[in-house]
Order: sequence, then structure tokens, then C-alpha cells
Amino acid sequence: MSFTLTSKLPHVGTTIFTRMSALAQKYQALNLSQGFPDYETDPRLVDLVSQYMKEGYNQYAFMAGVPVLRERIAEKVENLYGIDIHPADEVTVTAGGTQAIFTAIASVIAVGDEVIIFEPAYDCYRPTVELFGGRVIPVMLRAPDFEIDWNEVKHLVSDRTRMIILNNPNNPTGRVLQERDFLALQQLVESTNILLVSDEVYEHLIFDDRRPHSMLQYESLRSRAFVVASFGKLLHTTGWKVGYCIAPEKLTAEFRKVHQFNVFSVHAPTQYAIADYLSNPEVYLSLPGFFQQKRDLLIEGLSGTGLDILPCEGTYFLNVSYQRISNLPELQFAELLTKEKGVAMIPISAFYAAEVNQYLLRICFAKKTDTLIKAVDLLQNIG
Ligand code: PMP
Repeated sequence: MSFTLTSKLPHVGTTIFTRMSALAQKYQALNLSQGFPDYETDPRLVDLVSQYMKEGYNQYAFMAGVPVLRERIAEKVENLYGIDIHPADEVTVTAGGTQAIFTAIASVIAVGDEVIIFEPAYDCYRPTVELFGGRVIPVMLRAPDFEIDWNEVKHLVSDRTRMIILNNPNNPTGRVLQERDFLALQQLVESTNILLVSDEVYEHLIFDDRRPHSMLQYESLRSRAFVVASFGKLLHTTGWKVGYCIAPEKLTAEFRKVHQFNVFSVHAPTQYAIADYLSNPEVYLSLPGFFQQKRDLLIEGLSGTGLDILPCEGTYFLNVSYQRISNLPELQFAELLTKEKGVAMIPISAFYAAEVNQYLLRICFAKKTDTLIKAVDLLQNIG
């Protein structure tokens, strides 16, 4: 049978993560490209999931998420930011951060709407906006600071701007927003119809004594925002795909209209287990120390190799510049390193829609100490 098919996403191909991971496998290289831990999940958390399964929590969970988990999320927000959110009508448990972002966009973006994103950007924002007929307006941020020029953003706002998507702490830049960024954003959106998505999946992965800094802390922003988080990052369980979205009641109502028809509800025993596990706040309060140690090991190991290290304030990604070593474009250099040095990383150019080459690679350090030491050894003679 023959049929014609017009792709709704003609420009989407295999992601760079799949490509680099496949190359890493082919050349038996250390895979520091994709963002996932190579160490074990806490066995206590794994036991809790099986405990809830054995106890019979195996049927559909509540559409918006099991109440005890939504309450735990509200408690976490209260502990961290002193803010009172309502678990019943402001928190929705999702199948990971990606689904939360997808659903937020799907629930409010219509044909012709403009959505401002900041590039380098996490890869799901653009196609999701385009899938619903929206138009992406990118703001280009440049190494080494990747600072936002809010004046430039202001000039890109039009009467069609429906949404601004921010990711803080930022993948891939490793930077975190400052108070001044939030204040500028506040000024920009006040008395407009602009909605916000704040992708905060790396909320707790922040270093050098920084404290988590959420859009939830700004009342005027929170009142128009979908704030997205991921337990994959928080609990070292990226394969479980559980996350959540916090949004004011009016936005949550629209969010859930979409959520109930594309997901309905998320794996029930895992939700109960996570709620149980999160009753100890140390689980998330210990993350900065845990990851900072890994970041510092990598920074120290790579100094003197000819790679220049960019500031990393948050996330589990470190960016390095190889400008002093080679003038190959990023993708070619990343492929060469995978084949010849046995270490796979991600070219930063993959996070821009336009062609941009800054001689930068992103390294994921959510890896065992052993893996990081091996990577450092392999990269010693890179120059
Ligand atoms: N946003 C960003 C910036 C991410 O890096 C990721 C995961 N790599 C996600 C969202 C998606 O999170 P999840 O795996 O929970 O879907």
C-alpha cells in the first residue's frame, strides 16, 4: 500500500546523544556524552519500589499523581523556599521532565504563537513548540559566559510572544541564573500575556555554596509559570522517568487536560516509593557535595592537558574548550576523540539550531570516580 506522508517534524533526525552513544559503543569508548549516571541507584530506594509492588500498589495511580508524593513535593518547596503550594491543584506528577515540558507547551501553544528559547538549548523545546504550530524565536548565548542580554530579549518580544522557556541550572552551559536575570524577566513579562516554562531539572545540582534558586521564589513569575522538575536527576534514576510540574491552578487545569489523554498517570509503586524516600531531605540536600566532588576531580585531572575548562556552577556537565589543540569543528573533534582517545563527549554546537562552532565539548560527570579517573588518564596526552 502506498501513501503520502508529510512529516510534522521534517528537520528532526537522530539526536546527537544517540549518535555519540552509538559511536562510544562501537569504539568501546568511555561514554561521557549522554547525561546519566553509571553508578548504582540507592538499594533502599529500589527496595521501596518492590515493597510497594508486593504490597499491591499496582493499579492506575491518580491522574495527577499519588497524593502522598504531591504532598512531599509541596513540603520540599516549603522547606527550600518557604513557599506554600497546593498539592491538590498545583502539582502534577509526570513521566519525567520531558513529558512535563511537552504537556506544558501542548496545553497553551497554538498555531502562530511565538516562543522565545535560549540557545544552546536542551533539545526537546524546539520540536515540541513546532509540533503545535508555534514558532521558535532563539536568543543566542555565547561562550564563555552565556549571559543573557535582556535588552536583546526585549527586542524579540512581539504581540505574538506566548511563552519564554528558561532552563536553570542550564544544560549544556553549566551556568545558573542570577537574581538580576529574574528581575529583568519580571520586568519584561509584567503586563503581558507571556507564559513561562522554567525547566529546573538540575535544581539541586549546584556548587560552591550556591543555594537552589527557583522561579517559584518570584511571585509575579510563579503566577504565570510551569516549573518542571525530574526525579531522574534528583535520585540518580534517569530510566524511571518520573518528574513533576508545579503551576498555578489555572495553568495546572489546562496542563492536566492534556496530561490525562497522553499519559493519564505515572507508575504507581515508584511514586509511593519516592514519596517515602523523600521524607529524608538529606536525599536532595547531599547532592551538591556529591556532584561537586566529581566536578572537581575532573577539573583537576584535566588541567594541564591543553583543554580549557569553562565555569561550571550547576548541572552535571562540564564544558571544555579545545581551541588550543585543534581547529576541527566540534562534531568532527568529538568523533575523533571517541575513536582515537576512547572518550565520548557532546559537541555544544548540537544545542544550537544555527551553525555555531566555539570549539567546545560537554562532558557528563555523573559517573563513578573510576570512570572519571580513566577518562582523565585517556585525555592526558590530548594536546
Ligand atoms: N530538561 C533538561 C535541561 C534536561 O537535561 C533533561 C534530561 N536530560 C530533561 C529536561 C528531561 O528530564 P527527564 O529525563 O526527567 O525527562
